[in-house]
Amino acid sequence: MKKRSLIGLGLLSGLLLASCSSTLQPLGQFNSGAPAQLGRFAAPQANLPKQVVEIRWQNQNQIVNAAAAGIDLFGAKPKQRVAKARVSLQEIESLKAQGLQILQVREPGMDVRGGLPGGYMTYAQMVEKLKAYAAQYPNLVTIEDVGDTWLKTQGKAPQHDIWSISVTNKQNRAPKPTLMLTAGVHSRELAPVEIVMKLVDELLSKYGKDPQVTQLVDTRELLVLPMVNVDGRVSVEQGNSWQRKNLNGSGIDINRNFDSHWNYEGLNVPSSWKYGLTNPNTETYSGPRAASEPETQAVQNMYTRKKITASVDIHAYGEMFFWPLGYSDKPIPEVNLYKNMYNATFSKIGYSGGTSLSLLYPTTGTTDDYGYVKHHAFSMGMEVGQSFRPSYSDVEQMWVQHRPMWLTVLDMIGNFPAAR
Ligand SMILES: [Zn+2]
Repeated sequence: MKKRSLIGLGLLSGLLLASCSSTLQPLGQFNSGAPAQLGRFAAPQANLPKQVVEIRWQNQNQIVNAAAAGIDLFGAKPKQRVAKARVSLQEIESLKAQGLQILQVREPGMDVRGGLPGGYMTYAQMVEKLKAYAAQYPNLVTIEDVGDTWLKTQGKAPQHDIWSISVTNKQNRAPKPTLMLTAGVHSRELAPVEIVMKLVDELLSKYGKDPQVTQLVDTRELLVLPMVNVDGRVSVEQGNSWQRKNLNGSGIDINRNFDSHWNYEGLNVPSSWKYGLTNPNTETYSGPRAASEPETQAVQNMYTRKKITASVDIHAYGEMFFWPLGYSDKPIPEVNLYKNMYNATFSKIGYSGGTSLSLLYPTTGTTDDYGYVKHHAFSMGMEVGQSFRPSYSDVEQMWVQHRPMWLTVLDMIGNFPAAR
């Protein structure tokens, strides 16, 4: 059983006085540059000690404001109105001032600085695996280096390429609906990489043996970018288990850097929503301009080079299935196609479905909004699993649950109109 303790105000002020007073400033000073709508939210500061808490909200404004302020939120359960956050003591004060209930918790495995847990493949092992698939299944597999990481563009990590693998029966040259899966955009989220690689393995190893798999590989193309944020991923493998963003400066959140209403450009939203996006110290910093990052460009380029029918950008964690638009709770014209997909798949294993704002809080400049807004792809996002680094046996159990869902997704994209 997890040990939980309510962080009392007394304990907090004691800590502030005892250990942190020399590095902390009064809360009011942090707020001086913040938009008025942020209320008492403190600006995230670099290099302050962080701890993991569970936060509970009563009304959605509270979680919207926390996300907009750039609080590092994860593992949300929208139905229970609970999420986790990695926060400084000032941020805890801000959250409490907003009326959020705060509990100190642990995040399993994240304080171990020993690299990946057992069973997970490293970036280098993943690249070897892709090359082995290409050699073993030449009629089904095409692998490609689709771009450099930020470090490689700086001449610092010559081996850091972003790889894609395509799985389809190459002898059937008729146009096929194409599903693109991206994983590892946020490097600390480990399970999605394994899940997409297991799907690739399933299609290849069962082709010609399992009739459903054979039919799908004959009539669909699966295109997978298993690790988009390679620099961040290698940093995680070196022991920086919390690394989420890329390694440009203090890091840029690839999943807020896409050229689709970047920083809410062209949208009439509260100015407070932009705050976390424009502060380099947050985990949602969107970068200096739309699509500034080579990792973002690599994914965007897939849409111009290939005809992508549908896409899913897979994150961890939480159990959610998102459709566009992240910043809106009004249904898009195609919403019923998304709902049909959700109802036929992940709703069956208890996932929540909707836009990001309808479930939690607004997002923009995301991978999934980009595919829909700029290329009219059926573009979805997911949060999978119940921790950043589940044990490998938990990943294998997740795969058993996911396998029929992904085969259904591949099947159903045949009903979608072609993207343009
Ligand atoms: Zn993520």
